[in-house]
Amino acid sequence: MNQLTVPILDLKRSFSEIKPEIFSAIERIFDAQSFILGQEVKTFEAHCESYLDVPEGSCVGCASGTDALLLALMSLDLKPGDEVITTPFTFFATAGAIARLGATPVFADVDPATYNIDLPSAMAKITPKTRAFLPVHLFGQMCPIEGVIDELHGRGIAVIEDSAQAFGATRNVDGKILRAGTVGDVGCYSFFPTKNLGGCGDGGMAVTCDKDRAERLRRLRVHGSGTTYYHDEVGINSRLDAIQAAILDVKLRHLEAWNEERRKVAEHYRLLFKAAGLHDYITPPAELDGNRHIYHQYVVRVHERRDELMSCLEERGFSVRVYYPLSLHLQPCFRYLGYKAGDFPVSEQLTREVMALPVYPGLTENEQEELVRHIKNFFRG
Ligand SMILES: *Cc1c(COP(=O)(O)O)cnc(C)c1O
Repeated sequence: MNQLTVPILDLKRSFSEIKPEIFSAIERIFDAQSFILGQEVKTFEAHCESYLDVPEGSCVGCASGTDALLLALMSLDLKPGDEVITTPFTFFATAGAIARLGATPVFADVDPATYNIDLPSAMAKITPKTRAFLPVHLFGQMCPIEGVIDELHGRGIAVIEDSAQAFGATRNVDGKILRAGTVGDVGCYSFFPTKNLGGCGDGGMAVTCDKDRAERLRRLRVHGSGTTYYHDEVGINSRLDAIQAAILDVKLRHLEAWNEERRKVAEHYRLLFKAAGLHDYITPPAELDGNRHIYHQYVVRVHERRDELMSCLEERGFSVRVYYPLSLHLQPCFRYLGYKAGDFPVSEQLTREVMALPVYPGLTENEQEELVRHIKNFFRG
């Protein structure tokens, strides 16, 4: 009997559809021999602006999602001692960017159904030192921040959205479509190759509808320089490469179809888990009312024997992962913040229970069915 081999992510499956388009874009860059920023980046930024339905000039390409967060936080002029409220259940970069600027990450626990930051808990963390709120639209699903924005702004607190995993995720609020990354003051995207819109190397983008802030971000990404060799302030080197912009511009045209495909995969998993009667063992991810979740990751909760189940699936050719195995408040580098085990029980429980399954364009229903069959056999013999 031949066994399936299903990686956690297989980028080759979607690349094969677009290989000729990508190669002609790359050829154009090599012919032009112009590699940093320039027209290719401007064109990609303009296409992102129309995709995200934001004013011209709102998108600022940069070198990574981490840098987009850094640039966004730098544009707030954070000082040491300033506090930024964020989630402990996310990729490290979210809190890393805050700490890197000398500000203090202040964590609040998360919602057990969506894994996003719990908004009432976050609001309860506000102090006179709070300068910003940094929610993450985790795994491709928007956090419903529209409900707290006015209060935060009223208290002088900026909202920076970590939308690294959510380019294209939307949320329908009373018929109005909100797009991840365009609800707060600055939205930050990552084009790391594994993201829904991923390049062939590092890349990122900061988005803001405030013209002055966009100009500031554009200066900050080139060492704080408005006119070459004249520096208004100290920025960083965080430019988007022309080759990444050209590749991303091709992929942007396919993003809607790919995100739809991910949603179809997720819906099929949901039906398979339901049919298998696994609810005592597995909780599939919840989609909040009004949300269009784009399933950057399909993350279930496994209520018992998760690690054993993972080894069993790996042995049978199915790759699975834990995003994330250690809550950020317990990371060694944040010991100085003084948190301890038990401070954020939901986040800590998720680190013990979550398991990400393969979800990507080109994953077949047959592969999904086999995977769920193995899970069923594991729990119910
Ligand atoms: C990927 C990611 C980042 C960082 O993006 P890079 O492009 O890898 O620097 C930040 N936050 C979250 C939630 C991410 O998933």
